[in-house]
Amino acid sequence: MSDNNTQNLTDGMHIIVDALKKNDIDAIYGVVGIPITDMARHAQAEGIRYIGFRHEQSAGNAAAISGYLTKKPGICLTVSAPGFLNGLVALANATTNGFPMILISGSSDREIIDLQQGDYEELDQMNAAKPYAKASFRVNKPEDIGIALARAIRTSVSGRPGGVYLDLTTEVLSAVMDKDTADKSIFKVEDPAPAQLPAPESVNKALQLLAGAKRPLIILGKGAAYAQADQDIQTFIETTGIPFLPMSMAKGLLPDTHKQSAAAARSHVLSNADVIVLLGARLNWLLGHGKGKNWSAETKLIQVDIDANEIDSNRHITAPVVGDINSVMAEFVKGLQHVNIQASQDWIEGINTIKTTNEAKMAAKLNKDVVPMNYFCALRAIRDVLVDYKDAYVVNEGANTLDNGRNIIDMYKPRQRLDCGTWGVMGIGMGYAIGAAVTSGKPVVAIEGDSAFGFSGMEIETICRYQLPVTILVFNNGGVYRGDDVNRHGDSDPAPTSLMKEARYDKMMEAFGGQGFNATTADEIKQALLAGLQSGKPTLINCEIDPTVGTESGHLTNLNPQSVDTK
Ligand code: ADP
Repeated sequence: MSDNNTQNLTDGMHIIVDALKKNDIDAIYGVVGIPITDMARHAQAEGIRYIGFRHEQSAGNAAAISGYLTKKPGICLTVSAPGFLNGLVALANATTNGFPMILISGSSDREIIDLQQGDYEELDQMNAAKPYAKASFRVNKPEDIGIALARAIRTSVSGRPGGVYLDLTTEVLSAVMDKDTADKSIFKVEDPAPAQLPAPESVNKALQLLAGAKRPLIILGKGAAYAQADQDIQTFIETTGIPFLPMSMAKGLLPDTHKQSAAAARSHVLSNADVIVLLGARLNWLLGHGKGKNWSAETKLIQVDIDANEIDSNRHITAPVVGDINSVMAEFVKGLQHVNIQASQDWIEGINTIKTTNEAKMAAKLNKDVVPMNYFCALRAIRDVLVDYKDAYVVNEGANTLDNGRNIIDMYKPRQRLDCGTWGVMGIGMGYAIGAAVTSGKPVVAIEGDSAFGFSGMEIETICRYQLPVTILVFNNGGVYRGDDVNRHGDSDPAPTSLMKEARYDKMMEAFGGQGFNATTADEIKQALLAGLQSGKPTLINCEIDPTVGTESGHLTNLNPQSVDTK
C-alpha cells in the first residue's frame, strides 16, 4: 500500500498480523491457499516465522506442541473447509491434552454459507469447531480483530489450557479501514494466564495428610511439566524424600535416573501407597481410572489441578487443591517449614529392592543383541546415544515402539519427551518434531513405529526445506503391531495389519536431500543416530525390526475387543 491515496489505509490481513506481533507471536505453522495466502506473506514480511507444511494436521500439531513448550498459544493457519477440518483434528487433540493453540482459518462468504447457496469450500466453520475447542470465535468486522485475538489468547492459556478457533471471513481479511483507527483497536493482552492461588485450608489439609502418610507417592503429570514449576517440584520431592512416578510426558521433570523415581516399581507403588498426590495428572484411562488391580480402595488421594471439575472425576479425592501448580508448589515448599513430611525408610527400601530386581530383568533383555532386531536392543542403542545428548527432544509414537520407548528411553530434562498423550493418538510425530525443533532450536529425535510414521511422513519434505535438526528412526516391522499376520480369506491381498516390510523409508529422506541410513543391527542404529545428531542434518534411519516381535495393540491389548470367532 505505497500509493499516496492508500497509505493511511490497512486491511484485515495486516491487522491480524499486527495484532499477533503485538502479542509476541513469533511463528505461524500452516498450509496456504485461498483465502489466507497473502496473510502468510504479510506475516513473513513482518518478521513472524512462517513454517509451511504439507498437511494442516501436522501444522496444527506443531502449533500445539509449541504452545505446550512455551505457554504461549501456538498458531496454526489454514484455508477454509477441508483445510480447516484437517487442522481441527490437531485443535481437538490440543484441547484434550491441555495445550494452548489457536487455529486461524479463512472462511468463505458468510451470506452464502448461511443461506447454504453452495459457495467455494462452504462450511459453517465456527459452529463446526465448537465441540472440539475451548472456544470458537468468528470475526465479522476488521475493527474486531484485535479484541477477537485477545479473547482467543486469553482463553487458550488461562485455566486449563486448550485450543481456540478463530474464524476470519474472506470479507474481513480484505476489508479496508483507516490505519490509525486499526492501530488503536489492537493491544497486548495483560496477564493472559493469571495466577490461581489455592485456598490456604486446602494446602494445609493436603500437607497434614502427607505428614501422616506412611507410604506416600507423587504422580507427576504433563500439567506439572507444563506449569514450569520445575525448581519447587524438585525441592519438595527431594526435601520430603517421597518417591515419584512420572506420566510419560512428565518424564524428565526430574531425571529418570533420579534415585527417588519409582518408575521401575510402578505397580508396587500404585497398589501399596497410602497417600498419592496427583500433581497435574488426570485419573483417566492412563492411570486405570484409579481403579482395578493396580489400585487400592484404601489409598487416599490429594489432587492438585487448576480445573475444579477434574476433582472426583473417577474416585473420591480426600484433599483437593485447586490452583495453578506454580502457586500451589510455592505454598507446599513454604509449608515444609512447619509441617514435617518425610517418606519412611521402610517404604523407600521396599521400593528400591523391587526396582533393583526389575531393572536387572530389563537389563538382561536390553543387553541381548539379536538380528533381526527386537524392540529392546534397538531402543537400547538409542538410549545409549542419548546419554550424551541430554538436550535432545524425543518424539515417540507407535504401539510397541511407544510402549517400549517410554520405558527404555531415559529423559533428563523437563518437557523434552513429546508423545501420543491423552488420546494415545498416532499421527503427531512429524508435527511435534518440527514444532519442537522450530521452538527450541535443539536437536529432535523422533522414534516412530512404521505405521505411526505413515500419518505424517510427507512432512520430511518440510524438515528438509527448513533444514531442521531432526533425526527420525522408523521402526519398520512391516505392520500395524506386527508384520506377520496373514489374510484369512486366503487370497493375495495383504492382512489388515500388514505394511510393506521391504519398504526403505530412508530413501524417502534421500529424495529430499537429507541423510538416509538402513540399520539391521543395534550398532548400525547407534552409528546412524550419531551421524544424524553430529551433523544436525535431516536424517532418517530405517530400522529393520523382526516382524514377529510386536504385541497386538501394544500395552492396550485389554482395550481391543476380541471376536468370539478367532479363526
Ligand atoms: P498426564 O496425561 O500426564 O497424566 P493430564 O493431561 O491427564 O496429564 O493432566 C494434566 C492436568 O493438569 C489437567 O487436569 C490440567 O487441568 C492440569 N493442569 C494443566 N496446567 C496446569 C497448571 N498450570 N496448574 C495446575 N494444573 C494444571
